[in-house]
Amino acid sequence: MIALDGLSPRHQALINGIESFLLLGKHVVDGITIALSKGRIFEETLPLLTAAGIEPRENPETSRKLIIPTNRDDVRVVIVRATDAPTYVQYGAADVGVAGKDVLIENGGDGLYQPLDLKIAQCRMMVAVPAGFDYGHAVRQGARLRVATKYINIAREHFAAKGVHVDLIKLYGSMELAPLAGLADAIVDLVSTGGTLKANRLVAIEHIVDISARLIVNQAALKLKREKLAPIMDAIARAVGR
Ligand code: ADP
Ligand code: MG
Repeated sequence: MIALDGLSPRHQALINGIESFLLLGKHVVDGITIALSKGRIFEETLPLLTAAGIEPRENPETSRKLIIPTNRDDVRVVIVRATDAPTYVQYGAADVGVAGKDVLIENGGDGLYQPLDLKIAQCRMMVAVPAGFDYGHAVRQGARLRVATKYINIAREHFAAKGVHVDLIKLYGSMELAPLAGLADAIVDLVSTGGTLKANRLVAIEHIVDISARLIVNQAALKLKREKLAPIMDAIARAVGR
C-alpha cells in the first residue's frame, strides 16, 4: 500500500484506487485466475488444488466474496454459476476452471482446451418417468411425449437418435417436480444415488451419458502462461490418478 504523508483522505483514496487498478492489471497479465462453482464442484476440486499447492483463503459457502484469494499471491479463485464457468474461461476472464461434462456438452466447449477428466462430481444423465408410467408402450404407440429438462440440446439429440417424438420444455431447476405437477411425462436429468428420484416416485429408464467434471483451460493462457499453468495442471493430473 502506497501511503504519503500530508495527503488528504480524498487523495489517499484516489491513490488506493489507482493502486488496486494497477494490481488488477498485473494479475490479469501475470496471475492465474481459476473459475469454480460453489457446492459440489468447489468441495471436490479443493483436494486437487491442495495437491497443486493452492489453498483458497475462504470458503464460498460461508463467505459472500466472489473473488477469493489463495495462499499464493499470483493465484485467485472466482466463484461463478456452474453453467458460466466455460464462458469465463473462453473469454480469458479466468485462465482455468472446472465444468461438468453436462454443461460442456449442452453449451458446447468451443475455444476451450479440455485436457483432463477430474473424475469428480460423477453422475449419469438419465431419462426418468413416474413409477407406473409405461414409457415403452407410449413410445411403441408413437405417442408424442412431453419432456422437461435443463438440457434441451442433449435431450433433443438423444430422442432424435431413438426416433422418439418429444416436445421439450426448458426448466432451470427441480426437474423432478415436472411430472408430479403434470407439466411433463418424463424428465432428462442428472442422477447420482437415485435418492431424489426415489423420493419423488420417479424411475430412471434410459441412460444417456456418464458425466464427470473436466478441467477447462483458456487456449491463449495455455501458451502465454504456460510456465505457471503447466506445473498446476501436472500436479492436478497426478492427484486425479491417486
Ligand atoms: P447447480 O444446481 O447450480 O447446477 P450443482 O452443484 O447441482 O449446481 O451442479 C454442478 C455440477 O455438478 C453439474 O453441472 C454436474 O456436472 C454436477 N452434478 C449435478 N448434480 C449432480 C449429482 N447428483 N451428482 C454428481 N454430480 C452432479
Ligand atoms: Mg443442482
